[in-house]
Amino acid sequence: MDRLIDKAAEDIAAARSVTALTGAGVSIESGIPPFRGKGGLWEKIDPMEYAHIDAFRRDPEKVWQVLIKSMADVLGSARPNDAHFGLVRLEKMGKLKTVITQNVDGLHQAAGNTDVIEFHGSFARQCCTDCGKQCQSSEVNMDAIPPRCQCGGIYRPDCVFFGEMIPPDALLRSRAAAASCDVMLVMGTSAMVQPAAHMPVLARENGARIIEINPESTPLTGSVSDCFIPGSGGRIMNAILARLERLCGPVHE
Ligand code: NAD
Ligand code: ZN
Repeated sequence: MDRLIDKAAEDIAAARSVTALTGAGVSIESGIPPFRGKGGLWEKIDPMEYAHIDAFRRDPEKVWQVLIKSMADVLGSARPNDAHFGLVRLEKMGKLKTVITQNVDGLHQAAGNTDVIEFHGSFARQCCTDCGKQCQSSEVNMDAIPPRCQCGGIYRPDCVFFGEMIPPDALLRSRAAAASCDVMLVMGTSAMVQPAAHMPVLARENGARIIEINPESTPLTGSVSDCFIPGSGGRIMNAILARLERLCGPVHE
């Protein structure tokens, strides 16, 4: 394990530009359940019944009651953990340029990263399905479900449901960040959701080294990833940062 941490720290120390790709796993230690795996939301509900855009169109009230409301409740009180703070320290060292996240929880921004691409949108914003008006989720009155805009239209979170396109700007910027880095740090993603899972492939094709952090192996492990470090995001990031600070000097806050 120590050798893996050392190697990852050396790769990052030598890199000019690091891009991170994160998934639900980085927010587990903040108390937000992931979709897949142990304790995941999919153990309790069927994704196609709740997280597909057709399900929302068919029965928005049901999707609001079960999926959106429970997500909103958990997200409201969640705070960043060491996995998020580790990425902030990497940015302050001048190494990390961009975080591509599949998460909709806003925790990378809350921790302090400045360039965060929300690949699957955000739960922090709502959008009216009739007039397109956008607002902060905190401004939406959730006494009645589904919540409605002044025009009478139903609000939906500004995130990407299964069956929907990735916002074109997020996709374009992510591809550029993947293609231009020399290390990609892939953390807390099952790499089962496309096209997010393609970003490490793109990075590798353009010569980047891929460091993967996850307690379990994924479809990237052993093929796309050059280095797989088993473990939780917070613990491994702390270990890499400690080693990196010995190589590059401490981060000035
Ligand atoms: P996922 O739920 O498919 O997989 C989570 C991954 O995290 C697994 O591979 C698991 O082994 C790993 N993991 C578990 N504990 C970890 C830890 N302590 N540290 C690091 N990794 C850990 O997540 P996904 O790949 O992001 O894809 C599912 C989709 O679910 C995403 O597109 C996202 O939009 C959505 N989602 C987001 C949130 C959030 O915003 N926090 C939460 C649930 C789902
Ligand atoms: Zn409206």
